[in-house]
Order: sequence, then C-alpha cells, then structure tokens
Amino acid sequence: MTELAQLVPYDEALSRYEPVIGLETHVELGTATKMFCGCPTTFGLEPNSAVCPVCLGLPGSLPVANRAAIEYTIRIGLALNCSIATWCRFARKNYFYPDMPKDFQISQYDEPLCTDGWLDVVTGGSTVRVGIERVHLEEDTGKSLHMGGATGRIHGAEYSLVDYNRAGIPLVEVVTRPVAGTGALAPETARAYVTELRDLLRSLSVSDVRMEEGSLRCDVNVSLAPRAATEWGTRTETKNVNSLRSVERAVRFEIERQAAVLDAGQKVLQETRHFHEDNGTTTAGRSKEEAQDYRYFPEPDLVPVAPDRDWVEQIRASLPELPAARRARMQAEWGLSELEMTQLQNAGALDLIGATVAAGASAADARKWWMGELARHAKETGTDLAALAITPAQVARVGALVQAGTINDKLARQVLDGVLAGEGDPDAVVAARGLAIVSDEGALTEAVDAAIAANPDIAAKIRDGKTAAAGALVGAVMKQTRGRADATRARELILERLS
Ligand SMILES: [Zn+2]
Repeated sequence: MTELAQLVPYDEALSRYEPVIGLETHVELGTATKMFCGCPTTFGLEPNSAVCPVCLGLPGSLPVANRAAIEYTIRIGLALNCSIATWCRFARKNYFYPDMPKDFQISQYDEPLCTDGWLDVVTGGSTVRVGIERVHLEEDTGKSLHMGGATGRIHGAEYSLVDYNRAGIPLVEVVTRPVAGTGALAPETARAYVTELRDLLRSLSVSDVRMEEGSLRCDVNVSLAPRAATEWGTRTETKNVNSLRSVERAVRFEIERQAAVLDAGQKVLQETRHFHEDNGTTTAGRSKEEAQDYRYFPEPDLVPVAPDRDWVEQIRASLPELPAARRARMQAEWGLSELEMTQLQNAGALDLIGATVAAGASAADARKWWMGELARHAKETGTDLAALAITPAQVARVGALVQAGTINDKLARQVLDGVLAGEGDPDAVVAARGLAIVSDEGALTEAVDAAIAANPDIAAKIRDGKTAAAGALVGAVMKQTRGRADATRARELILERLS
C-alpha cells in the first residue's frame, strides 16, 4: 500500500491531537562473557570468531545463565526503583530469523526479573515521572549484513552475510509505561528519558552505553488521539533509533505523520517502522506481531532464577550515587539555580566542571571557564566541550595561576588558547609565551617612568591634582608590557611619582 506523503505541521498537529509515547530500550550488558556460554563479548572481533555450540544453538548444547548478567540486571532494576522478583523464569520466544541461530530467543515474558519502577526526567523546566513497567533479561541476536545494495538494507541487496558474534550477548530491555500528557514536549521528553537512562546505566557500570556501536538501542512508540478522545490511539513502534537526536526526531515525525493519517480519515496501522537518519523520516516495516505469534513458553533448559534477598540487599547497598542525586548535590554545593544547572547539563559541562572542582578550582571559576571561553571555542570549532584538547586539571591550574596573581583573566584566555593549541600545560604556555604578570617592582617602575616621559601633557594634569587622568598612563604601561602589568600597582606607582 502507498503511504500518505504529506505531514501536518507540528504545532497544528499538537493543537488537535494528544501524543502518547513509550520507550523500549535495549542495553547490551558489559559482562566479559555471553549470557548462556563462555564466549567473549568483545566488540569488533573477526566475524563468527566468538561463537560456540551453545550460542550457535547446536543440538545437544545446554545454556547456563551468567550470574554477572543477573546481578547487573538487578542493579538496573534497583536503580530504577523496581521490585525484584523472588522467583522468575526465562521463556522461549519463537520466531524465525537468519540472525538467530536457534530459531528462538531466550527472553523473559510474564515473569520479568524487575517490575514497577520509575525514572524522573526533567524537560521544559519541570519533572516528568516516567513509569517503568519492566526490566527483563534476554540474549541478543546475531547481525545480518546485506551486501551489494546502496542502503545496506535487505531491499536492493545482492546477498546477505550473518555474523553470530553478537548472538547470546546479554541484553536488558527496559520498558516504560505509556507516557501521556507531555503535549508538545513529547519529543523532548523522549530524548530526556533516554539521556537520563543512559547516564544512569553509565553510573552503574553495567554497559558502555554506546549508541553508535549499538550497545544502547531504542524502540520509540508513538500514538495520537484527538484531544477530546477518551481512548488512546493506535501506536507505531519505530525500531532501533540509534542517537539521542534521532529519538527526538522520530517522535516528532510520527506526530506529524499520524496527524495527517487521522486528518485524512484513515487509521494508523499498528506496525513497526524504520527511522531514516538522513532525512528524519520513518517508513513502514512489518505489521506488528502479537505476543501470541511468538508462542512463548518457559525455557525448559534453564533452572528458575530466585535471587536471594540478602544478595539483592547487598546489591542495593553497593549502588553508587545516581546521576539525579549527584546533580542535586552539585547544585546545592555550587549554589546554582535549576535553570543554571540545566544549562550546564545541556552544554555537556556537568562532569567537566565537577572534575575541575575536584582538581582544586572553585565552582564559580570552573563554571566561568567551561561555559565562557571554552564553550565559545567548542562552538567555533564545532566540537563538544568534552572533546576539547584540555583537561579539567589544566583548567583548574589556569584558575590557580589567576588566584596566585601570576596571570589575570585576560592573560588566562591566552593560556587556555595555548593549551588548546597543543603548546603544553598552563605553566609551560605561560613560560613560553612570556605571559606572567610583571609585578617585579624594578621592571614596573621602568615602564611607569617610560609612560610618564612619553606623555608629558597627561603627567602635568596629574601633577595638578587631576588623578583621574592616571588611567591613560596605566593604559600606556599595559601596552608597553603587553597586558602583563599589575594594573593596581602601576597606578599606585604613577600617583606616587607625580604627587
Ligand atoms: Zn558461545
């Protein structure tokens, strides 16, 4: 069937329809070995080199659950405020796909390890509590590579290859409850949720959460209903959205597209869709399977998982400070407003400022440099703050040099430029560029005398009591010392000599 080509402009769509979003996030766990065998999980190995009879599903092989993967999943569940099952089973999800060697996937169905949690996310200046329906554990599939075509998709390909290295890597799926009531902020809320979840997972050290390598993948559900409707609309599921920006764009596009479908009096089909990074659109994939299509049943080759309560409490006690708590602590310690914190977070400066403070800088100084001079440099060069060729320790050292009076703020900018240009540490840049303030009395007196001699008219005014004119002579001293003079001391010397 052909799809409607037109879209309804975003604001217009929102004026008539209410979006409901939901997110299913797959996280590849960072365990050393796979979920049910001892094969390594290293990314980027030679295709089909990290495989064995178990993850290839050869007859007679038996899986054994990876304890570390279960522990990681419990960590995630606890951090997401979930209840941890006292007893649960894995289930077989039956479907046929070339990248799934067993022709079924070991997953969890009606007995997930973690249920009923929540994650708070901040969007548009307010907090949205996103309900977490479940966190369950499964194994990843292999990877099909479609060769010979222009797009890398199966359509137009000449042949396909399959790599089973990824088959059996432990995968956690975090499923939200439907999120309603965010209106025009729905795309931003989806992005904020994935960002918060990614930061949370990173703080738990359970995954490297690299979206570009596929260790964090999102399926984005969107439905629209007319504003007055009492029931939600039919949802679509856009698969494998692989960047934070794409999550936001996918939601936005689906709102505009579904509004056009509904405006035309048609029905939104329940289907999976593909997101296209190049133009930000989605196109229809397969019609969505119902759970019954998978013929789930308890996995007979594995014993049930019954996490001991003491073990769960030990895991809870070992959780690190989570990102939201850390942000609240930093905000209090640094004395910042909610808006200021959001700005730092959006600029990707939070961790950098934290590390700069840890390296001895004051919070005000760290914020001033990262959000000022360095943010400007990042913007000019089109890079992220974190990718700049300067470390928090180096920024802290620049602050310390200002504190010690070795340089002033203006010179500090030159020092930062030098460090960014690869001229070495701040001290090396100060030495090599000769940036240290001239506070040596002899050198300063010499410069003051030269300034007086070169400006006899101004000197005469000051002698007549017009001390405000001293500023011009201070300027001359600064010029002569290329901005390195201690201006306060220079002024004192000028007035002393002309009194
Ligand atoms: Zn294996």
